[in-house]
Amino acid sequence: MAQKYLDPSTALEHLKSYPTRDGLSVEELMDERLHGGLTYNDFLMLPGKIDFGAQEVITETRITRNVVLKTPFLSSPMDTVTEGEMAISMALLGGIGVIHHNQSPAAQAAMVRAVKRHENGFINDPVVFSPTHLVEDVLDVKERLGFSGIPITDTGSLGGKLLGIVTNRDVQFASPATPLSEVMTTDLVTAPEGITLLEANEILRVSKKGKLPLVDKTGRLTSLLARSDLLKNQTYPLASKRPESKQLYAAAAIGTRPHDRDRLALLVEAGLDIVVLDSSQGNSIFQVEMIRWIKATYPKVEVIAGNVVTREQAASLIAAGADGLRVGMGSGSICITQEVMAVGRPQATAVYAVAQFASQFGVPVIADGGIGNVGHIVKALALGAGAVMMGGLLAGTTEAPGEYFYHEGKRVKAYRGMGSIEAMEQGKPVPPSAKVNGVNQKPGHKDSNRQKKEQIHANAATARYFSESSAVKVAQGVSGDVQDKGSVKAFLPYLYAGLQHSFQDMGIKSVDELQSGVKAGSVRFELRTASAQVEGGVHGLNSYTKRLYA
Ligand code: GDP
Ligand code: GDP
Ligand code: 5GP
Repeated sequence: MAQKYLDPSTALEHLKSYPTRDGLSVEELMDERLHGGLTYNDFLMLPGKIDFGAQEVITETRITRNVVLKTPFLSSPMDTVTEGEMAISMALLGGIGVIHHNQSPAAQAAMVRAVKRHENGFINDPVVFSPTHLVEDVLDVKERLGFSGIPITDTGSLGGKLLGIVTNRDVQFASPATPLSEVMTTDLVTAPEGITLLEANEILRVSKKGKLPLVDKTGRLTSLLARSDLLKNQTYPLASKRPESKQLYAAAAIGTRPHDRDRLALLVEAGLDIVVLDSSQGNSIFQVEMIRWIKATYPKVEVIAGNVVTREQAASLIAAGADGLRVGMGSGSICITQEVMAVGRPQATAVYAVAQFASQFGVPVIADGGIGNVGHIVKALALGAGAVMMGGLLAGTTEAPGEYFYHEGKRVKAYRGMGSIEAMEQGKPVPPSAKVNGVNQKPGHKDSNRQKKEQIHANAATARYFSESSAVKVAQGVSGDVQDKGSVKAFLPYLYAGLQHSFQDMGIKSVDELQSGVKAGSVRFELRTASAQVEGGVHGLNSYTKRLYA
């Protein structure tokens, strides 16, 4: 007898008669009593329907109460990952680099300043000289700050009467001792103060000049615009900038001890927007007090607290005033915390638990550690994270600190955990009687000063793991190397495009839509068995090359 089939044209209608959709809801996926804590590799998202192009996907997210980024990428505050160059590049490309604190407060503040100076709308505190300054003063600014377009006023400061301007071309062939009065351009195109950025940029565009000084009615300099900023704006449309000033966001990490308050003062003076309280276990009285103190002292600075992996830890920090939370304990690629301390939590479960709780208070979370590919980023976002923080994935890029070297035929860069013995011992002073090549090393006055300074840096890494007072340092991280990844200027656009394509596969156009779809149960998950994970990787080939982007 012929089988009786349903009418194919009723397939979509028929679907509605099923009580649930395919796959699991997030609550079912995250039922710990059934299948324990999960990592990113333990599950997948099911596909949706594609009716739009991948470029239409918007990856904008909130990373703290008041900071929204166009891409959800942060780089870790680690001494082999984020210094000035990484922080500038991350911000230009739509993320943020968190500058590490395993260095002197002054060095860290200089990096914050470099980020804040890199791009501007109106430059409201431009470097200004007087006609009696010399060409060598301009060369010095060029060397230290990277620009040489300097307005000249009678007083040599902002608010003085504008007399002229010098730029690179004016000083290129002049002798260093020449006074600026002899080389400056005095026939100036200026604009009145109070003009909008748009109008000012139009004047810059039409005048074809490199700088546009703004002056009040009496001809006194009030602000400056740089043509190069128009170009940067065009080249980096995703850049993470403060809306009012168009300056790049700067973020930096500090510890939670009393001396970190002095460090923070320097960073804030340099223009810091976001401070990350860097601790492996964030639920401490040190941190709670630090958050309260920062919110009272610098109400405009956004505070990312952490690290946490449980609702209970998160609640303390939210109650103290955290504007964002960093989630992860023991999930980092260089990390041995779970192995040695037996404390931590599988990262996917941690992100879900904390994000689900924190979202009720409007506090975004950052999934920190264990991000190894685009898929992990998508999963972190699906579980409620506002952004991911990456260490190992970015440590091999050109912009990460350190030089490339060869290890077993591969071009690599060093990458180490901040809880590794190497990072905790960085700058450890040579004991007075230490012998180098059989010769006693007696530190001179200069050396002991250096030792004191270096001891402060070493404290930054040890304090993160609460081990500054321990006789024996117990490592929570390892030291190794990672393969060359080229420039972050190519790698981050790959992560961004990868993210857009993943969203397209899920039939989802934005992070907001993803997270509300997960909450509503319309975004579905599937657990992966061990053999499903094997199947999902490349398998059965004799050999292959894995090129991730072109
Ligand atoms: P210049 O022609 O040598 O002055 O340099 P560019 O115009 O290429 O670059 C100047 C960059 O430095 C722009 O992005 C400015 O926003 C930034 N900048 C930050 N602070 C200052 C400042 O005080 N003066 C100038 N001229 N530029 C500044
Ligand atoms: P750069 O020297 O290559 O950075 O390029 P600029 O276009 O800034 O400089 C070319 C010339 O124009 C130099 O002699 C500058 O002193 C002068 N100049 C730069 N900015 C301005 C400006 O806003 N108005 C006027 N009138 N001249 C400017
Ligand atoms: P990755 O992206 O390499 O997987 O992880 C980077 C993250 O690991 C950092 O952002 C930081 O939270 C964490 N981390 C850095 N150094 C150490 C360490 O030595 N031990 C532990 N437990 N975590 C670390």
